[in-house]
Amino acid sequence: MPFRTRYTGLIDKYRDRLPVHDDTRIISLGEGNTPLIRLNNIPRVLGKDIDIYVKYEGLNPTGSFKDRGMTMAVTKAVEEGSKAIICASTGNTSASAAAYAARAGITAFVLIPDGKIALGKLAQAMMHGATVIQIKGNFDEGMQLVKEVGAEAPVTIVNSINPYRLQGQKTAAFEIVEELGSVPDFHCIPVGNAGNITAHWMGYSEYHENGIVNTLPRMVGYQASGSAPFMRGKMVDDPDTVATAIRIGHPQSWDKAWKVHEESKGWFDECSDDEILAAQKLLAEKEGVFCEPASATSLAGAMRDIQSGKIPEGSKIVCTLTGHGLKDPDIAIQQSTAVQAVDATLDEVKKAILANME
Ligand SMILES: *Cc1c(COP(=O)(O)O)cnc(C)c1O
Repeated sequence: MPFRTRYTGLIDKYRDRLPVHDDTRIISLGEGNTPLIRLNNIPRVLGKDIDIYVKYEGLNPTGSFKDRGMTMAVTKAVEEGSKAIICASTGNTSASAAAYAARAGITAFVLIPDGKIALGKLAQAMMHGATVIQIKGNFDEGMQLVKEVGAEAPVTIVNSINPYRLQGQKTAAFEIVEELGSVPDFHCIPVGNAGNITAHWMGYSEYHENGIVNTLPRMVGYQASGSAPFMRGKMVDDPDTVATAIRIGHPQSWDKAWKVHEESKGWFDECSDDEILAAQKLLAEKEGVFCEPASATSLAGAMRDIQSGKIPEGSKIVCTLTGHGLKDPDIAIQQSTAVQAVDATLDEVKKAILANME
């Protein structure tokens, strides 16, 4: 019969590479299997001969890559008998935790920072019935509190310090290899807590160790300038950036990410908020792909390194787009041209159309 097998999520697909048993009850919303989109117009804008793809992780069930890790973390929490999960979050982790907890029938507690949380993410956590606690502090302070609560109360921490998170997230690298038929030369990725860059490297390395691929990519991690501890070489106490998902000054996977940097012979770099927003807009306008600001950091950095030749022509590049553009409607509207208001007459509408057609 010419029908495809129904896709039932990444744990089902990569069962033999993940820490689950045959009788594990899997908590899934059909995450993973996201599009790898080849950019057609941006290479032309750059005037460079490059093969560049975006991995559109915004098309996961709750709109970010966090779902890859959350399906694993919540599956294991339930397996271990946990009745509640907790996380600190700049937004996407809480949205994902709330949804998977709802699916599993357990309780979710989320600690979000004071202000600077994108509206879409907050709406998700609230809608899925999580207990949302807003602290008068930033993400790093929330993370510290969650670790303290986790040590005292019967709740499972589902931040990326939970090792099952990275296990789930490594599957993005598997998908990329399977789709490209090889590893990319460069994998560019936004860095906040640095769990995702670590997880991707785990995935590529696992395929390499198993002889499925015979090369490895260079991992390139980009941070926002106001929030760039890997560039400063030390923790940043008061991080600030428009890319709220990576507004993190004390990365939880600090040592792991430096190891990725060394082993993959990659590098870290930083992008200004202006560069990040310009890349977000360019991608939306030239390719029809809408990602949130933090996600565009990978493309912003890659474009600069392509232009300078640090990423040479002829390279195959993958940029991870970590979250969907609809997560942060305020920033999107702020940087777009205002809507034109006209009278509801054919004349006025015609005039408005002709004025915009050259
Ligand atoms: C969580 C997140 C990141 C950062 O990932 P880390 O694993 O913390 O480095 C980047 N972008 C978006 C949209 C995120 O939600």
